[in-house]
Amino acid sequence: MVEELDFDAVIIGGGVIGLSIAHSLTSHHSSPLDPSRILLLERHPQLGTETSSRNSEVIHGGLYYPPASLKTRLCIRGRRLLYSFCESHNVPHRKTGKWILAQDCAQTGALKRMIEKTKSLRDVEDGVGGTLGETPLRWVSREESEREEPDVHVDWEAGGSILESPETGIVDSHSFMLALEGRFTEAGGTVAVESPVSKATPLPAPGSDSLGSNGWEITVSPTSTIPDPSAITSRAVINAAGLSAVSLFNAILSSLPSEASPAEKLPPLKYAKGNYFSYSRSSPRPSRLLYPAPVAGASGLGTHLTLDLSDPPRVRFGPDVEWVTPFSSPSSSSPPSPEPEPEPRPEETIPTEIYAPNPAHLAQATREIKKYLPSIDASSLVPDYSGIRPKLSLHHNQEGGGLGEGKGFVDFYVRKEKGFAGLVNCLGIESPGLTSSLAVGEMVARLVVGEGDWGEREGLKR
Ligand SMILES: Cc1cc2nc3c(=O)[nH]c(=O)nc-3n(C[C@H](O)[C@H](O)[C@H](O)COP(=O)(O)OP(=O)(O)OC[C@H]3O[C@@H](n4cnc5c(N)ncnc54)[C@H](O)[C@@H]3O)c2cc1C
Repeated sequence: MVEELDFDAVIIGGGVIGLSIAHSLTSHHSSPLDPSRILLLERHPQLGTETSSRNSEVIHGGLYYPPASLKTRLCIRGRRLLYSFCESHNVPHRKTGKWILAQDCAQTGALKRMIEKTKSLRDVEDGVGGTLGETPLRWVSREESEREEPDVHVDWEAGGSILESPETGIVDSHSFMLALEGRFTEAGGTVAVESPVSKATPLPAPGSDSLGSNGWEITVSPTSTIPDPSAITSRAVINAAGLSAVSLFNAILSSLPSEASPAEKLPPLKYAKGNYFSYSRSSPRPSRLLYPAPVAGASGLGTHLTLDLSDPPRVRFGPDVEWVTPFSSPSSSSPPSPEPEPEPRPEETIPTEIYAPNPAHLAQATREIKKYLPSIDASSLVPDYSGIRPKLSLHHNQEGGGLGEGKGFVDFYVRKEKGFAGLVNCLGIESPGLTSSLAVGEMVARLVVGEGDWGEREGLKR
C-alpha cells in the first residue's frame, strides 16, 4: 500500500451502483481496506438523483438475458442479496410476483424457452463460489387468471398463456440508497457531494508496465459553491458514473499519450429514455406486476404495469423507449443513427428538460397497455416521469444494447481494466442494475482486493 496517497479507493458516482460498491468495500469480510480511506464522489448536491431514482423499482427475477451473461448472474445473485439486505435494514419492499402475458403461440414459445433457460441456470456459477440455483416459474391457468385478475386479457384461443415469476418484487429505491449510504458512512467511509470529476490520471510510475501502479490523481471540477478545482490521489479508482461512465473512461484514455494507452476509447453511450404514465382511477387495479411477453432484440421489457409500495398501491405504466440525444439534436423514437454523437464531458449532466415525460408517447403506450388490460380508462393516464438507459455499444455502428440472446445483446461491462493498476469500470449498467447492485458491489470489491477471476473470464469481450 502506498501510504502517501490520500485514499485507498475513490468511487466516482453516487447512484445505487457506486453506493453498493462503497458498502461492499467496507463490509467485505476479507477487505484489507481501511474504510476511512474510501471516498465516494458525487457531482450533484444529493446522492441517487439520476437513473437510480428514475426507474421501475422492480426486483427482477433474472429471466431475460443469456445464461452466462453478467446481467443474468448478477441479477440473480443481486436479487437474493437485495431481499436479504431489505429484510435486515428495514428497507420497504414487497414480493409482489409478476405475470408475463403471452397473447399468441409465438409469444408462448418465447415463455417456454424462458423456462428452459432458467432450468439451465441451476448449475451456473454465481462468481462467489456458489451456483445460481433454481429460479421458480409457473404457468397460470385460464381459470386462475379469471379468478385472480379478472381485468387481465390473454388471447387463450390464439395460444396465449401466462407465466408467473413469484420471486419478482418491488423496492423503495430511495430507502435502499439511504441504507447503503448509512452503512458506508457509519463504517467510516466518506461521501463528498458537489464533486464533479473531470478526469483521473495515472501518477508517474517509472519502469512499471501498469499505468496507475503508483496511484491516480483525480481532478474535481469547480462548482457554484466550490469555485476552485481540486485534486485527490488514490490507489484505486472505480468508475460508477452511470450516464457519464463511458465519457469518464474515455477522458482517462485521452489524458495518456496515445502510444502509452493500453485500451482504445469506447463509442459514446446512447441514451434510451423510458417514459412512465401514472393511472389515477381505482379500477382496474391488478394486484401484481404485469409484463407483456419479451421481444428479442428490443431495447426494453415493454410497457408494463408496476405498483408502488403505498397502500393501496398506485399503478403506473412504462417505460417505453425513446432515443434521445441530450447533448446535441432533438429526440426521436427510432434507433440511434450510426453516426457517433459528440462526446459529453464527464462532469457534464443531462439537461433536466430531457427528463420531462413525453406526452406524444401516451397514445402508443395506451395501445400497448390495452392489449393486456382492455378496460383501462385512457383518459386517466397521464405522463408521470422518465429515466434514461445508458446504452453501451462496443462498436461505432452498433445500436444500443438489446434484450434477449441474439443480435444486439450487450452485457454489463464490469471489469478491472487490463494494463491499468487499480482501475475498475462499471459501464452500461441499465436494467436490471438496481436488482443487481449488491452483486455488482460484491464483484467490484473482489476485483479491487484481487479475489476471484470474474474480470478475466467474464463480461464483455472487446
Ligand atoms: C427507465 C428505467 C427503468 C429501470 N427499471 C429497473 C428496474 O425495474 N429494476 C432494475 O433492477 N433496474 C432498473 N433500471 C436500471 C437501474 O435503474 C440502473 O441500472 C441503476 O440505477 C444504475 O445505477 P448507477 O449507479 O450505475 O447510475 P446512476 O443512478 O445514474 O448513478 C451514477 C451517479 O454518478 C454521478 N456521476 C456521473 N458522472 C460523474 C462525475 N463525472 N463526477 C461525479 N459524479 C458523477 C451521477 O450524478 C449519478 O448520481 C431501470 C433503468 C431505467 C432507465
